[in-house]
This record gives sequence, structure tokens and C-alpha cells, in this order.
Amino acid sequence: MIYLDSAATAKYRNIDDIIVDTMTAAMKDSWMNPSSLYAANIKDKINKCRANIASFINAKPEEIIFTSGASEGNNTAIRGWDDEIWLTTYKKSNIITTPIEHKSILELLENGNLGSVVHYCDVDEDGMIDYETLESMLKGLHSKSEPVLVSIQMANNEIGTWQDIKRISKLVHKYDGVLHTDATQALCHIPIDVKYLGIDLMSCSGHKISPVLRGIGFLYKKNGINIHPLIYGIQENQMRAGTENTYGIIGLSKALEYCDVSIDAMEALSRKRDYFIDNLEYKFGCTLNGHDIYRLPNNVNVVFSQNITGESMLYILDMSGIKISVASACNAKSIEPSHVLKAIGLTDENAIKSIRFTLPDDITYEEIDKVIDEIGKCIKLIEMEN
Ligand code: PMP
Repeated sequence: MIYLDSAATAKYRNIDDIIVDTMTAAMKDSWMNPSSLYAANIKDKINKCRANIASFINAKPEEIIFTSGASEGNNTAIRGWDDEIWLTTYKKSNIITTPIEHKSILELLENGNLGSVVHYCDVDEDGMIDYETLESMLKGLHSKSEPVLVSIQMANNEIGTWQDIKRISKLVHKYDGVLHTDATQALCHIPIDVKYLGIDLMSCSGHKISPVLRGIGFLYKKNGINIHPLIYGIQENQMRAGTENTYGIIGLSKALEYCDVSIDAMEALSRKRDYFIDNLEYKFGCTLNGHDIYRLPNNVNVVFSQNITGESMLYILDMSGIKISVASACNAKSIEPSHVLKAIGLTDENAIKSIRFTLPDDITYEEIDKVIDEIGKCIKLIEMEN
């Protein structure tokens, strides 16, 4: 099997055995409720993990709120800010976002009955934010003294384009806004220093790092930023109720110890990504979706020039043991062309002819050659049937 769908969930690699072993040990020796008075040692373990995770992104331990994943993190950050503004200031508030966010954000903004007015800032044909539009939106709202939350993803799950978050945060703070970023696809793929980048709220998910970390994630909330919880109760400093997912937290902390975001590691994977893209362009006339430089090291997303659909290719490649994606996994059941590809200007036809390959970090050049080979056979087969 060649797994090329790491953006849907990370591939199981050898090092995941260590995470499983660590979690299994915790299930045997740390199964008591961490809030019980006799289980203070388990609470201590959780707090050590909190400190490890915080240091990985240059945050303080108390700035980490454990969640079930990034959908919850996104909902908590956005609804929590919206509630806070309405309940404390009664002011008209605003949320600026982009049309290429994950559905857990777009659906909340469209159907979540928030008090804020939502503004969409365009992205260009590579998926990069339009800074001038962002600044003029922020300026206009600031002149009316209306509070604003900006929610812009760090990296896109479909096309891999990553945003200049430092530049965005400077703009947001210049006009007294608050910045939330969905870093689900960025964590462990590019370095994240929340202080340097000027992030106020950031959502992350465990299963994009290791597949055994399903149902665990965290929200970074900078000290001094106030939001309401989504789930009321006592745990996580009253910011997220529910008995702690001890095993997930311990596993997540262990997984981060093995994340390599050094320049060398990023370059090594980017070289394989570019080798793959070059072959797709040269052999099949593919066109790249997303930015060619500001791009996650693991992301390849292309439109095929032939008369094929990504979906038919997906099923044929699956028979050869190659796992790919035609849109984001959360979207895979929808027959609509991807909202991200449409937002960067693709026609319906080209969106349907697009395929996303997201590489695991242990991918080899031999595996890429095999995939290229199988794609060639697949195109011939489809063309024969047409
Ligand atoms: N945001 C982005 C950019 C994602 O790719 C995903 C996962 N598809 C999510 C949020 C949701 O993450 P989770 O599965 O942890 O809820």
C-alpha cells in the first residue's frame, strides 16, 4: 500500500509504535479520573504533557486547552469570542475570514447563529490572502470602533498554501483585532512559534500528526484573550469541561517529541514533493493548484489535462493499493466541486479533474516512481473506456 492521504489523517509509521506503547502503558497505570483527589499524580502527568506541548509552540502551559480536535478548537475559538463580545460589550462585532477555510469554520459562520457579521476576504489564484483587502476591511471596522476577530488558516488542507501569519497578525493588531488561526495542517510540518508569529488563538489536532491520536487536540489561547467556553464545566480551567482524555494527551505529547520541523527535514520532503510535481507536469501535462513556494512540504494538488475525473482515478489507483484524495476527506462524499478549488478560480470541470496527494514523511523516490507509473496506466485505461 502507498498512502498519499496524510492530510486526511497521518500515516501509521514505525515511530507510532512508540506512541501506542506509551498510551497503552498509560491505560494500565493512569486510568483513574485525574480530578479525583487520590489521582494527583495523573493530573501532574497531564500538566507535564501540557508544558511539553506548550514549549513546542513557544507558549505557556496555562495557554493550552485540550480539546477533542481542531473542529472543536475552531468552534470554541470563534463562538467563544463571539459570545464574549456580545455578553460583555453588547457591541456589533465582526469576523473576517477567507472562503478557503475548513468546513468546521465555514459551516459555523454560515449556520451557527453567531452575533457577529461575517466578512470574507478574497484569496488569489494561489490561495494567498489579499493583504490590501484585509487591511481595508480592518481599517473600516476600526474607524467604527467595532470589535473584530480574524480567522485565517495557517495552511490549507487541500492545496497546501501557507499564509504569512506574522504579516497578518501585524495588520490585525495594528487595528486592535484578535487573530485566530487554524494550524491543523501546519503543526509538525512547519515550525510554529506563537509569540513570534503574534497569534492569539490557534487550533490543532492530534490525528494529523499520528493516526492513533484521534479525538485529541488543543486550542492555544494567549493569556489576556478572553473567550467563553463551548462546553461548560470545571476542567481545563473552566474552559473545556469533560474528564480529561489522559491517554490522548500523553500520546500527543510523546508524538511531538518525534516531530522534526528542521530546515533539513522540510527540505528533504519538499524535494520529493517537487520531484513528484515535476513528473506530473512533464509526463501528464498537469497544472499545479496552490502556491509553488509557500506550500506545505507534503502537499501535491494538480489538475489533469486529460479527459478524466479525479474520482475515477481514485478508484482505479485504490485497486493498485494507492490511496489518494479528490477533495478534503471531510468533503469526499459531496458531489460538489471543492469550495477551495472554486475559490482560487478553477472551473467546475478543472476542480473535478483535480487530485490531492499528501505525502507521509517516510515516502521514498521509488514509491513516487511507482505512483507515476500507475497514474500513466490509469490514464490509458480511462482513455480507452472513453
Ligand atoms: N481544520 C483543518 C484545516 C483540517 O484539515 C481538519 C481536518 N480535516 C480540521 C480542521 C478538523 O480537524 P479534526 O478532525 O481534528 O476535527
